[in-house]
Amino acid sequence: MPLKDLIENLNFCDDLAQNSIKGQLLTIEECERILSDSAVPLLPLLQAAYQVRYRYHQNTVSIHIINNAKNGNCPEDCSYCVQAKSSDSPIADYPIKSESELMAEAKAAYDNGAYRYCMVFAGRGPSKGRVKKLASIIKEIKKNYPIQVCLSPGLIDDDDANHLKKAGLDRLNHNLNTSARHYQSICSTHTYDDRLNTLYAAQKAGLETCSGMIVGMGESVADIIEVVLKLRELNTPSIPVNFYIPLEGAPLKEKVDPFHALTPEYCLRILCLVRLLNPTAEIRMAAGRELHLRGMQGMGLYPANSLFMEGYLNTTGTSIPQTFQMIKDGGFDIKSDKQLDQLLAVANCNSALTDTAMSEPVFKDVEALRPTYLA
Ligand code: SF4
Repeated sequence: MPLKDLIENLNFCDDLAQNSIKGQLLTIEECERILSDSAVPLLPLLQAAYQVRYRYHQNTVSIHIINNAKNGNCPEDCSYCVQAKSSDSPIADYPIKSESELMAEAKAAYDNGAYRYCMVFAGRGPSKGRVKKLASIIKEIKKNYPIQVCLSPGLIDDDDANHLKKAGLDRLNHNLNTSARHYQSICSTHTYDDRLNTLYAAQKAGLETCSGMIVGMGESVADIIEVVLKLRELNTPSIPVNFYIPLEGAPLKEKVDPFHALTPEYCLRILCLVRLLNPTAEIRMAAGRELHLRGMQGMGLYPANSLFMEGYLNTTGTSIPQTFQMIKDGGFDIKSDKQLDQLLAVANCNSALTDTAMSEPVFKDVEALRPTYLA
């Protein structure tokens, strides 16, 4: 590349950071350059995203632990999901976990340094009775542990949102997943507008919202830009970026090969775009980071300031010690009232630092889905 072009691209990255910090919206052409112009070098782009990340989150990383609180048997047909009725994946289905089980897992999440405990329930949405039960569990967790609580209950209305807010819920998750245009090709049992309405209900009730995306589901560059812009328009304070894990039995696996689109560099460019368009948001390098970012996961912490630890809904992820070590090695610290070094020492004692490079997704077994913390 001629030197003058390199300088122009370096200046482009620098301007991105300054404009993002000023709150300016990027043009579509700038978004496209971030994602797909190989002349825009990756390291200066990461540096631009890091400047913005540092401005609002310094070097902290929020650790989230996800709890698969009700697994499988979902009547919806999201084609990427192994819990959907249309999937025949070998997962361990179970109804909603008991209150004591969810409480014990909340305690374990807090003890392991999690900033936030996220309970996820398979299904279209909760009944009024289920909302009441969830509200009572949330109250108990908030009474007993100083941990942020996030709930992913499916579609809810204004009444449900108000009820959960009154119970002390901090945050409600409902992912947009992809663009409005692409949504109809991944799900037919509910619409993009249904998803938006759930987010509006949560916002109206005063709940903080968490909404993100899954990339690698056959979407175009334009679809990614559209959903990231939509999340900005919604002023979403928490954005998980999932990298599609093609799991056995989920219908989308037969239609889409995410490895075709998702190189580690492209994944990092997506994280940079999300950061530069959503400067203040908590951006999570979420499910699939092991599979798609591989050895470059640590670099994802330059745009992102949050991670899941202990795997995802139905698949395993890097171990607790490996996750802490990656954070420490990158010069980052955790957002917690606990010390990273102490947690790392305890985690290393509790489990051998095994190499789980994860070239293949691995289903969680029942022991991983329902650990026995109860006496
Ligand atoms: S609604 Fe949730 S649990 Fe049900 S199929 Fe869709 S993503 Fe899976």
